Amino acid sequence: MKFTATATAFVIATATTGSHAFSPVATPSTSSVSLQASRQPIMAGNWKMNPCTEDDALDLSKELTKLLGDETCPIDDANPLCTEVVIFPPFPFISQVSNVVADAGITIGAQSIYFEEKGAYTGSVSAPMVLSMGCEYVLCGHSERRTLFDDNDQAINQKVHKVLSSGMKPILCIGESKEEYDLHIKNEVCAMQLSKDLANVTKEQMKNVVIAYEPVWAIGTGLVCGSAEANETHAFLRTILSRMYDDEVAQATRIQYGGSVTPDSVDELMAMPEIDGCLVGGASLVAEKFGRIINFTTQK
Ligand code: PEP
Repeated sequence: MKFTATATAFVIATATTGSHAFSPVATPSTSSVSLQASRQPIMAGNWKMNPCTEDDALDLSKELTKLLGDETCPIDDANPLCTEVVIFPPFPFISQVSNVVADAGITIGAQSIYFEEKGAYTGSVSAPMVLSMGCEYVLCGHSERRTLFDDNDQAINQKVHKVLSSGMKPILCIGESKEEYDLHIKNEVCAMQLSKDLANVTKEQMKNVVIAYEPVWAIGTGLVCGSAEANETHAFLRTILSRMYDDEVAQATRIQYGGSVTPDSVDELMAMPEIDGCLVGGASLVAEKFGRIINFTTQK
């Protein structure tokens, strides 16, 4: 209930004082952001704390390299509409996995970092460390970090800034809990997270930010948010980005859906105009499943 209480307080505060420069309370019309933009699809596999051994991680990586299709590519490929594929192995496997997948055009990311550069922070891993191992992306704000490791919005914001200033790209994960969904404050929660987690991130820096909308109740549960509802939420997030920045940023920012995505649900999700990719947990650990997901067939 921690987020619920915070979100409710935020809603009340903004509604009564109007003191926030940005208030997510009045839900803006999605029609205010109607420009069309072509955004490169991005499919990401979050391995979480899996698999248990380096050998298994290398086997999975090798299998994945065989499953890339003609339409998958790194972001700097000549074809801007091919699908970018990113995987997030556990820290100890990053270097070896990177060696296996680099030539195949799969990009590597880190599941987290600590915002400090270096020093007496036992057990932590810094941005320069993962950058030096070949990481281009870092997950920020994943719900498991928020709930199990107490990453709050301030820490997430610090992390986002560190990732950006280090020359990498954050995938900022946001999303409401089951309680918040049932209380019909999903939009307020997501708007609040965007506002706090992206505080002082500039319009220029937003070119390197990816958002992942992940309803917490859909992560690892087998419950996929309906594609139409996910699309609607993504459209709402663009109205918030438009308010925080402008329409250009709102239309250019890639927004992934995450939460129990499988080969069975990916085509319908990717058919939605506001969904630019998926962040995949469980299914990314099975090469055939992830291969099918990254080679989704739906045309928008
Ligand atoms: C995730 O970890 O971000 C995730 C979406 O997991 P899963 O696909 O297993 O729900």
